[in-house]
Amino acid sequence: MNEAGNFIFDMIKEDIGPGGRFEGMRVHTRFPPEPNGYLHIGHAKALEINFVAAERFGGLCNLRMDDTNPTREEEEFVEAIKEDIRWLGHDWEDRFFYASNYFEQMYNYAVELIQKGLAYVCELTPEEVRKYRGDLTTPAQSPYRDRPIEESLQLFRMMREGKFEDGKMTLRAKIDLTSGNFNMRDPVIYRINRIPHHNTKDRWCVYPMYDFAHPLEDAIEKITHSLCSLEFEAHRPLYDWVIMNCSVPAKPRQIEFARLGITHTVLSKRKLRTLIESGIVDGWDDPRMPTLCGLRRRGYTPGSIRIFHERNGVSKVNSVVDYAFLEHCLREDLNQNAKRVMAVLRPIQLEITNYPAGKSELFEVENNPEKPEDGTREVCFSRELFIESEDFAENPEKKFYRLFPGNEVRLKSAYVIRCTGFEKDEFGNVCRVFAEYDPESRGGNTSDGRKIKSTIHWVDANASIRATIRLYDRLFDVEEPDLSDCNYLEHIRPDSLVVVQGARVEKSLENATAGERFQFLRQGYFCLDKKDSTGDQPVFNRAVSLRDSYRPNKT
Ligand code: ATP
Ligand code: MG
Repeated sequence: MNEAGNFIFDMIKEDIGPGGRFEGMRVHTRFPPEPNGYLHIGHAKALEINFVAAERFGGLCNLRMDDTNPTREEEEFVEAIKEDIRWLGHDWEDRFFYASNYFEQMYNYAVELIQKGLAYVCELTPEEVRKYRGDLTTPAQSPYRDRPIEESLQLFRMMREGKFEDGKMTLRAKIDLTSGNFNMRDPVIYRINRIPHHNTKDRWCVYPMYDFAHPLEDAIEKITHSLCSLEFEAHRPLYDWVIMNCSVPAKPRQIEFARLGITHTVLSKRKLRTLIESGIVDGWDDPRMPTLCGLRRRGYTPGSIRIFHERNGVSKVNSVVDYAFLEHCLREDLNQNAKRVMAVLRPIQLEITNYPAGKSELFEVENNPEKPEDGTREVCFSRELFIESEDFAENPEKKFYRLFPGNEVRLKSAYVIRCTGFEKDEFGNVCRVFAEYDPESRGGNTSDGRKIKSTIHWVDANASIRATIRLYDRLFDVEEPDLSDCNYLEHIRPDSLVVVQGARVEKSLENATAGERFQFLRQGYFCLDKKDSTGDQPVFNRAVSLRDSYRPNKT
């Protein structure tokens, strides 16, 4: 995260400095995902902030599954969450926790509140609670508020023992029925819910509400700074109330930051799940998903995601960042680090008619001009090649400088060639192009200094392999499909995935490893798909094209 302008860092510095509330203490943060889905780029912001704050101050960051709500929490997600965080380069060492392991302690804190006269068992139905909530000028009503402590203690025990049906009773904190902050109007802190829990199975039928559980989880783990997104700001008084009134071992401080939104995508788990269930995408790791596993499969690097968050910084104002900025960060990373190779997406044959049949030669080609230390590789050249069909024109338009009859182009890293003719198939499509090479131009330069306007990529017909290439693009055709008044399902782009079969890639890609990223010259950055590639048919996903559409003033 940016040092300058990071108000969270400033607050932490003050807290641990002289006279601060945590003077001399070690900073301790946590990242608390709910294991009910995969992490997305928005979660990555929250986890970056928590892990990086700990790192910055020489502190610790816990990974905690916030699994106090038994609905739809699954073990599958726990493992995936760990994998994603490790991939981003963070380590929680042995500090991995389940909030559900604190249920007994939470129950005891609730009993403590009842004993102090600060909580009571309420028998209003959820509808009645809503009805009695009052408004800004009318206080809430709560007929069970003055129930004797002993009675609440006994009823709460019976709730735990399963003596009442779901929804029959709740435990409410006794705070302030007149508060302008509705979260303080005697919020429900425990409810009955007979849903088996992924960790505690059927041991419990009462579950703590988030606003009661979260501060306790933080305090039990002796967190100093509980960094969370802005929607919890209005819950902070309740957070502080719980910390103040339960005899907890630490007094954590909640600090909120703005949520991240990104254009052309949705970030709510519910909506992401709908995209999967309705078959629009292939799963959580579909390369069009904003999930970390989707971005990884697409070809995103951990570094690009961390830089993206670092540059966005932290603030108190929710914002929607241009998707192009995320792509910009990836391009910058891959431009530095990805190996260059040649791949022909839609091949047509090119025959070099003055090159001896049966002969071939090797060109030594740089792997990455940005990184000479990445060395070179050999690329084979012979009489039979493939070039991109769009690099040839029978009748060139104005300013078309690539291959057409009579014109000269440079074959990248090889020779200058002049087009001498072409052949059409029975449907009238050009299927074969003929050219002669200039033997004096080995390496690409003409001996007489004549100018060659254009350089095209190519592969050797024999020394190349077939590949499937997936061209991914944005999933939505509107900027903000996540807005509540937008029916995001009506804005799916039909062409967010174009599958190109029968592409040809240079032979060196035989040795590509799953997840490895490359720049296909003139095409973009691609990543070898780890799921669908087979030995004789690699599949490459386009991570991002070469053209940068990011305009700094747009964000
Ligand atoms: P979703 O809305 O996608 O279901 P959530 O908030 O319910 O997200 P949690 O698993 O509870 O998901 O989130 C873990 C942490 O990540 C929380 O602290 C939450 O505030 C934070 N977080 C979630 N989405 C974003 C976002 N878009 N930007 C920043 N932080 C986020
Ligand atoms: Mg949540």
